[in-house]
Amino acid sequence: MTIRVWDYLPEYEKERDDVLDAVRTVFASGRLILGESVLGFEREFAARHGLAHCVGVDNGTNAVALGLQALGVGPGDEVVTVSNTAAPTVIAIDAVGATPVFVDVHESDHLMDTGLLEAAVTERTKALLPVHLYGQCVDMAAVRSVADRHGLVVLEDCAQAHGARHHGRPAGTMGDAAAFSFYPTKVLGAYGDAGAVVTDDPEVERALRRLRYYGMEEVYYVVRTPGHNSRLDEVQAEILRRKLTRLDAYVEGRRDVARRYAEGLGDLVSPDGLRLPVTTEGNEHVHYVYVVRHPERDTIIERLREHDIHLNISYPWPVHTMSGFAHLGIERGSLPVTEALAGEIFSLPMYPHLPREHQERVITVLRKVLDEL
Ligand SMILES: *Cc1c(COP(=O)(O)O)cnc(C)c1O
Repeated sequence: MTIRVWDYLPEYEKERDDVLDAVRTVFASGRLILGESVLGFEREFAARHGLAHCVGVDNGTNAVALGLQALGVGPGDEVVTVSNTAAPTVIAIDAVGATPVFVDVHESDHLMDTGLLEAAVTERTKALLPVHLYGQCVDMAAVRSVADRHGLVVLEDCAQAHGARHHGRPAGTMGDAAAFSFYPTKVLGAYGDAGAVVTDDPEVERALRRLRYYGMEEVYYVVRTPGHNSRLDEVQAEILRRKLTRLDAYVEGRRDVARRYAEGLGDLVSPDGLRLPVTTEGNEHVHYVYVVRHPERDTIIERLREHDIHLNISYPWPVHTMSGFAHLGIERGSLPVTEALAGEIFSLPMYPHLPREHQERVITVLRKVLDEL
């Protein structure tokens, strides 16, 4: 039995008729680009968040980049975020010509340490970019208060947090705009690349529609400011519309998996051994990934691989240590918690249709491996 950290085929088996019907619907509609399915998904995704606007884009990286641009971020500006994130968060900052500035994360939940924001703000700071990592939200009251004090805009990176709530509010409704990815592994995943930006601000919405469409206002076919081609595809939008009606069930499935890990491994937790994910007060976690921690991470992963269990790491290299960001001149040691975590974290299989027997085997083998260390 080969066990992977994620696999879409069990879901496809269950939902195949609906997915294929979505494809047929679009192909028969007579409109393949920016048609009814994109409009419908945008309306339904905005409504789900209680927001006025959603603009579909081609992927999550461009959702962050266009979100920043639409909020007025550009060359010369600084954007404060974390290094413990998926590289695309930072790629998007770079893509708009801005400079990323990193703050460290909390040891407990691995999320942005908002107590460090104030000291990271300079005269060039334009935006704060909190990342709701692993499926739970950053302390947004703290983010907002720093933003308000310094006149900054806030873009939430919600690529891992579809359906999450923070003190009762949905992820994506607490900034000036929020970027989502629908990459297939995500809590709401397409069957290919897709993304979206949500906002309540009509000016931001208008800018986003222009930026994803070469920089044109759709009616006049005149480029206002040079933009991009970052349209959400009709087929992906139609699949996402249908999957959106099942989002709560996907989240429940993930919570069941998380509960079973906590039951099966909870007794092994110790401060210098295995540590399981912690849900921070006020958060309703959606468990995009199930990140655990152990000082002998590399040995554990290797031993599990010998049992045909293939885990991965979200993320093994903090962004500021990557060669592609050497020009930022951020020294190793400057983000101690982020750097320590990167050497010890790893992810257990997590997706709503994870077969029961796979999960039971992961728990059994992991217990054995830990016992033999
Ligand atoms: C997945 C992800 C992205 C990028 O999304 P893509 O659709 O892969 O471009 C951005 N930020 C975070 C935190 C992510 O997890």
